[in-house]
Amino acid sequence: MDLKSKIRVIEDFPHEGISFKDITTLMQDGVAFKEAIKQMAEPFKGQHVDVVVGPEARGFLIGTPLAYELTSGFAPVRKSGKLPYEVVEANYELEYGKDTLQIHKDAIRPGDKVIVADDLLATGGTVKSTVDLVEELGGEVIGVTFLIELTYLNGKDKLTGYDINSLIKY
Ligand code: 5GP
Repeated sequence: MDLKSKIRVIEDFPHEGISFKDITTLMQDGVAFKEAIKQMAEPFKGQHVDVVVGPEARGFLIGTPLAYELTSGFAPVRKSGKLPYEVVEANYELEYGKDTLQIHKDAIRPGDKVIVADDLLATGGTVKSTVDLVEELGGEVIGVTFLIELTYLNGKDKLTGYDINSLIKY
């Protein structure tokens, strides 16, 4: 199946010059959505995975079905102030300014095998912070996986040394 054809590209959203990849059209198609998650799970089949970790908000949409497919747990990474229990946090650079991501400090146990999942790799800042949080808690990141990769932004450069997978490339 041509999964790329299921992505809707919207020019100049949310700012002029940004070519936004809208995954809602893929998710609307049950067969395509299932196929995408199945293909994302493929490289990890037969490996033990304790937890999939996904950053707010579209990382939840991709990370939870992936965890279900791999029979692993799922842990959310959220913007500051959203998680109710004790957290560890990481700051990351945005186009203008900084933002903070947090994870519950008991979401990962030392030695846990973790996959970090998000819908899209752009500059890599979001997922690098997510990887840092997992490692701060003693987790071992065995893979980093995306539905979409914007290869021209070289986000992979922030993630050297990790096993990176993406299904759809622009
Ligand atoms: P990065 O931190 O790699 O620069 O940006 C990736 C994050 O921004 C992801 O969490 C992703 O959800 C969001 N993002 C940036 N651009 C797009 C886009 O074109 N489409 C979608 N669906 N998400 C995007």
